[in-house]
Amino acid sequence: MLGTITIVGGGLAGLVAAIECAEAGARVTLHEAHSTLGGRGRATARPYIAHEGAHVFYADGPHWTWLAERGLTEPLGRPSIRDAARVGFVRHGRLRHLPPANFVRMMLLGRGKKAPVDQDFFSWAAGMYGEDTARVAANAISVVTLDADTGRLSAAFVWDLLRRVFAPKPPAVRWVIGGWQAVIDRLAARAAEVGVRIEKSSRVTELPNRPTIVATELSSTRALLGDDSLRWESGNCVMLDLAVREGPHDRFICWDLDGGGFHESYSMQDPTVAPRGETLFQIDMPIRREESRRAAISRVEAFADLAVPGWRERVTWQRTGAAKGRTGALDLPGHTWRDRPAIDRGDGVFLAGDMVAAPGMRGEISINSAILAAKGAVRALSGTGRTGL
Ligand SMILES: Cc1cc2nc3c(=O)[nH]c(=O)nc-3n(C[C@H](O)[C@H](O)[C@H](O)COP(=O)(O)OP(=O)(O)OC[C@H]3O[C@@H](n4cnc5c(N)ncnc54)[C@H](O)[C@@H]3O)c2cc1C
Repeated sequence: MLGTITIVGGGLAGLVAAIECAEAGARVTLHEAHSTLGGRGRATARPYIAHEGAHVFYADGPHWTWLAERGLTEPLGRPSIRDAARVGFVRHGRLRHLPPANFVRMMLLGRGKKAPVDQDFFSWAAGMYGEDTARVAANAISVVTLDADTGRLSAAFVWDLLRRVFAPKPPAVRWVIGGWQAVIDRLAARAAEVGVRIEKSSRVTELPNRPTIVATELSSTRALLGDDSLRWESGNCVMLDLAVREGPHDRFICWDLDGGGFHESYSMQDPTVAPRGETLFQIDMPIRREESRRAAISRVEAFADLAVPGWRERVTWQRTGAAKGRTGALDLPGHTWRDRPAIDRGDGVFLAGDMVAAPGMRGEISINSAILAAKGAVRALSGTGRTGL
């Protein structure tokens, strides 16, 4: 067996890194500050299994292959055809069944188009498709960016996300039965199986022995490494989890094309997450610059009035929350994922998480960076030097 690798953080990134290192033959110790694993992938306990915001996987990248190869994603949930058809789009304050024609045209005609890294999305898209289309597209993809002004981000970054989520091809979105919590539980079981030592309620306050992988939120990594340069752009949103008695007009999925909000049912595809006869929804709304959390919650509730009509009379459980700088990396004009904080910090220190230099969106960045960081740490352990990550 190789020597020991220490991992700080037991979220998605830390668990993936731990498994990858242990599978490569290293001895691994993982420290998690909380009493439970999972970080932002954790969910509430039954009967309402709700996450910190809507949580889905996309099955079109190396992150998914890594999880699927280890049998960590099955079984999957799927809505009935009837429920899947209950899609909505809010535009100018009204609920519609179809997306705006200009947005559909943009996605159809844009096939094969490349967007510039150096320009902002809004000015690039407005120049080609008009301001209204650019605004609608930016608000539609806020489902991923969770940012109230997605138009200010790099055109290449936003366009890639739009092509992944809305391009005319079979949707790659996947819902794991039991939600992300089920994946976290399976990751923890896999880690135990390959011999990872997990220390819960173990907050690390000084960099441990090298090699070490720091798999925390970037703000915690910054404090731990004492490196103020570890910063990147991220989203800011309020979240409403809502369980209601089932209603015939409730939407499965709904986009708020006015404010960038997004509504999704979690129990229509996975009845295990709510009691029988109830539907569990999660609704996110990006917070505008200078907007109070209260005002953003009012907007998310007004959006719920359209997507879940009469919810106030039917509600059985609800909670609200906010997530600032916790929704994954966003790239500003002039930057790509390669410009984010490097994974290999030198001297046997590696970073993993959703704001570092790895491809993908949100949690995918955590998984992809964790795999790269683990490979680097194993190489450092066997003395083969810097990785160039
Ligand atoms: C509203 C919202 C919606 C989202 N939707 C999606 C989605 O649909 N799909 C998707 O892919 N991603 C989504 N994400 C992003 C996803 O949740 C995160 O990218 C992912 O969970 C991050 O995992 P991580 O392991 O990198 O970080 P974390 O989950 O933050 O894990 C870091 C861990 O480190 C621990 N820690 C911190 N400091 C220390 C220390 N000093 N010592 C020991 N332990 C420490 C923390 O307790 C935590 O458990 C969403 C996020 C939000 C907020």
